Amino acid sequence: MSYKVEYIWIDGSQPTAKLRSKTKVLPDGKVLPIWGFDGSSTNQAEGHASDCVLAPVFSCPDPLRGGGDLLVLCEVLSTDMEPHPSNTRAAMAQTAVRFADQEPLFGIEQEYTFFDGARPLGFPAGGYPAPQGDYYCGVGAGEIFGREIVERHLEYCLAAGLGISGINAEVMPGQWEFQVGPLSPLDVADQLWVARWLLHRTAEEFGVSVSLDAKPAKGDWNGAGAHTNFSTRAMRESYDAIITACDALGQDDKPLEHIRHYGHGVQERLTGHHETAPWSSFSYGVSNRGASVRIPWQVARDKQGYIEDRRPNANVDPYQVTRLIVDTCCTALEKAGQV
Ligand code: ADP
Ligand code: MN
Ligand code: MN
Ligand code: MN
Repeated sequence: MSYKVEYIWIDGSQPTAKLRSKTKVLPDGKVLPIWGFDGSSTNQAEGHASDCVLAPVFSCPDPLRGGGDLLVLCEVLSTDMEPHPSNTRAAMAQTAVRFADQEPLFGIEQEYTFFDGARPLGFPAGGYPAPQGDYYCGVGAGEIFGREIVERHLEYCLAAGLGISGINAEVMPGQWEFQVGPLSPLDVADQLWVARWLLHRTAEEFGVSVSLDAKPAKGDWNGAGAHTNFSTRAMRESYDAIITACDALGQDDKPLEHIRHYGHGVQERLTGHHETAPWSSFSYGVSNRGASVRIPWQVARDKQGYIEDRRPNANVDPYQVTRLIVDTCCTALEKAGQV
């Protein structure tokens, strides 16, 4: 007997990396080997030296094929077995190890938009649907487009054992969200990439495509983000630590350093409208969905909990956003003795 393993990796596409995958058939009982691919077809190598290496880092049951089949997320290495330039996980793993004793946790809200050809799902041919207002968490065929895909994706994520914690319909028709976490930095980022792969793959079964574009419809329509919720053990126990983390994110050149790695097109999305803060000015506040960073109301009441960085785009690389937030906030918490 044999089993099938889907090797999944992140390519070198610019400005936003894409997911790729291919299947390896293995004899039963064989452990997951490293594998390779043609990097010249994924913007990861030149044709004359095109081999790249796939090193498995996270695996889970494959809910699509079932049985003993697996999904395997890989890091891309060069043939000298060093991290490939497109590999953002390697640096993030170092940061996660360095600050592991602060026990950082993340919950990421992944927004996305279904497309039927060139149009967001639910947008009529040659026109626009009714303005925003009734779609967010809506019910009924006039408000909801693609629920059968969303439900199937949720089932697949749960069957794969991913730490998915919820789903909801979003403000624009055809736009949805799922949340992954709370989990450790590496787990949340790995599992978000696998959940994204499953989303593309599920929608494929319905002939629909998925866009993580930050501003998929121009005009008076909400963009798509990836609000990133974050805490450390100290933040889960003290409000002073919550404030230290918020202040650290606003200090000196930190806002710009973060924004630069929060996804392609972040300036087009963070306009100060559509529940965003302008990208050029950092702010934080309790319950404020017009701030860069929100302190949820129950966190202000309980004087402990987590913060929500509302700036990352839907197309953000979760390895980048988790690396930056852990580095900025955990360094400041360490300096303040709040660990
Ligand atoms: P919103 O009200 O912004 O839409 P959601 O319910 O969509 O919030 O998402 C909140 C996210 O915060 C969830 O993914 C949840 O797992 C995560 N979360 C909850 N508690 C913590 C915590 N202590 N640290 C980090 N993330 C957390
Ligand atoms: Mn949400
Ligand atoms: Mn949302
Ligand atoms: Mn949110």
